[in-house]
Amino acid sequence: MSRFFDGKLSSLVAYTPGEQPKNVRQLIKLNTNESPFPPSPKVFEALTREKIEELRLYPAIGITPLQEATAKFYGIRPEQVFTANGSDEALAFCFHGLCPNGAVFADLTYGFYPVFCDMFRIPMHIIPLREDFSLAIEDYAGRKETVFIANPNAPTGMYLNLDTIRALLEQDRDRLVVVDEAYVDFGGESAVSLIGEYDNLLVIQTFSKSRQLAGGRLGLAMACQELIDDLNKLKFSFNPYSVNNLTLLEGAAAMEDVEYFDACRNAIIETRARTTSALRERGFIIPESMANFIWANPVRISGKEYYEKLREKGILVRYFSGERTKQHVRITIGSEEQMQRLVAATDEIFAEV
Ligand SMILES: *Cc1c(COP(=O)(O)O)cnc(C)c1O
Repeated sequence: MSRFFDGKLSSLVAYTPGEQPKNVRQLIKLNTNESPFPPSPKVFEALTREKIEELRLYPAIGITPLQEATAKFYGIRPEQVFTANGSDEALAFCFHGLCPNGAVFADLTYGFYPVFCDMFRIPMHIIPLREDFSLAIEDYAGRKETVFIANPNAPTGMYLNLDTIRALLEQDRDRLVVVDEAYVDFGGESAVSLIGEYDNLLVIQTFSKSRQLAGGRLGLAMACQELIDDLNKLKFSFNPYSVNNLTLLEGAAAMEDVEYFDACRNAIIETRARTTSALRERGFIIPESMANFIWANPVRISGKEYYEKLREKGILVRYFSGERTKQHVRITIGSEEQMQRLVAATDEIFAEV
């Protein structure tokens, strides 16, 4: 730490992303919930020489084709769509500007939430998930802080249906609920359908998981117009051009190509079902996942040992040390072939122990 670093931030512990190894082509990379599929062919078509020349200009401000395509997809107005440099940036604005009474979230959820609280000095209240990793909304009744819920949750993949989200919103209509839907496209139902009814609901989505654009850095927030205006005020007080020209085009193309989107997510859902049953047959305990990953307890060996032995065989999954997480690994659902290799590697590992 240099002597210039602000002492108020000296205890900041930065978020640790999953490993992005250089030799990615030699590895089966199942550690950061990326898509095994390339972006939509429409994304390739959108990146013309002419559009690349337009990089000399600042990105569009106001309503963009991306907002129009998103509004059409969800049946909302383009003014209800906020764009950000990844959903992490949208979340940052929510923590920074929309938590007047602090933030409340689960102990086991997206690891960035407590980092944002530290960064912006937002008081946080943490509510442990129940023993079986379920989230009980009764535990949030009476809390005044802004609620952050990843639905489906990470790293468990467990999902709350829309009736439950509605009940959470009804607990206190003067308390904001931010639903982080990074994984909702893999079998869940989006709460965007509720934003017309609830002005205390803000939905965050990303193009990183179900739309094959993790490297494009694109996230969305959707809510009533007042909340979106608030987010735009924050964005235009920080970096109005955080989403670049090319990413705006990529996002619109990906949003418009519903057929490709459905084909990719359905493939993941099917491969998830096959992988889950294959591993359960081998004694694993895995809660029902609605995400593009599974939360797998190998039972016969520890999470760490399984992670390390898979790694030796060139398969990278995510391991979180920590009392409640150390018996598990989080395995991203890749292609059918990648998952067959994971199951085969698991058989080899179990044969050795
Ligand atoms: C991956 C992930 C994000 C971040 O997505 P980006 O759009 O790539 O910043 C946000 N929330 C959750 C729960 C995630 O798993």
